[in-house]
Amino acid sequence: MDRADAVARFAYEVPSLDAYWRAIVLFGQNVASYKFALAGALLEVGADAELVTLDVLALPFATRVAEHLRTHDKQGTFQKSQFLDACRAFNSGELDTEGLRAKTARLGFQNVIDAFHIVDQSEVPQRFFIDERKTNKGVRITDHLRELLDDGHGPNLRDEAEARWRLVETAWELNLPRHLLTVEFEPETATLLVPRRRTTITGARPALNGYQKGHCFYCFTAIEIASGAATTCQVDHLFPWSAGPLVGGAPVDGVWNLVLACARCNSWHEKSDRPPHQRYVERLNIRNEYLISSYHPLRPTLMAQTGDSPSERSATLKRALDDVSVRGARAPWVAPEELHPAF
Ligand SMILES: [Zn+2]
Repeated sequence: MDRADAVARFAYEVPSLDAYWRAIVLFGQNVASYKFALAGALLEVGADAELVTLDVLALPFATRVAEHLRTHDKQGTFQKSQFLDACRAFNSGELDTEGLRAKTARLGFQNVIDAFHIVDQSEVPQRFFIDERKTNKGVRITDHLRELLDDGHGPNLRDEAEARWRLVETAWELNLPRHLLTVEFEPETATLLVPRRRTTITGARPALNGYQKGHCFYCFTAIEIASGAATTCQVDHLFPWSAGPLVGGAPVDGVWNLVLACARCNSWHEKSDRPPHQRYVERLNIRNEYLISSYHPLRPTLMAQTGDSPSERSATLKRALDDVSVRGARAPWVAPEELHPAF
């Protein structure tokens, strides 16, 4: 299933206002984080509002961006932004609240209001606001947004937008494809929220190699991170991708389940489609615990995907092994040879 299918299944198989809203937040093109800030601002001011001028929307929007800039200076994939500079000036005390409001109303909404309802090049069927910048200097909140808020979805949707925002920041920071960081799913709708794409995970190589130090996860043979070498590594799903979308309750495509393997191990492992040997599951657990305890940037993602405590995470891995062992009912896969451990 490609990306468009995943979006369509997610948003439109069970059409509802909150599904449309989540499609906007989860699947929007994140060239910048403004969509998350606008989502948060709309949830904050939308309950009883009708017309919201840009002057009123400015601070709920800009203070969110400013807050995120304190920990992640990269908030977009472009080089320069006068609006971001205004938020930075606000953070450093060079610009006061009124200055931030004025600059945001003038510079902050240029693309995000147009782009908000667009998911994969088309507009979601229900709008949460109407653009009335030309006539009324603001946006008109629709019944759909008020309905979402009346139904009590506000706090969850606010937390989800924040969680998604942090994921995108992590993805930018580590240069990872963000679908590897997927954490939002509910058991009953899991297949809708975990896109099934066998693409672009090569971007995970540098982030994973910090721990593996240039050695295959399974056999410890030397591997190259750069593409094109004879020994270039592959990104391998320790629990087979085919067992997904969830294994042990965690997304099979999540970074918790990804390791770097030499071409030989990757090919034999993926082709065999057999459950991993217990020793690799233990090795994976040690790897993930190491990244978490060392406050690696992947820490929040790994915890969100597999559990908040070491015992929960270890139980997730055990359930995953049970899942694939039952489904496969075949002998576990083990590398044909193993060199001296490198990690
Ligand atoms: Zn190997």
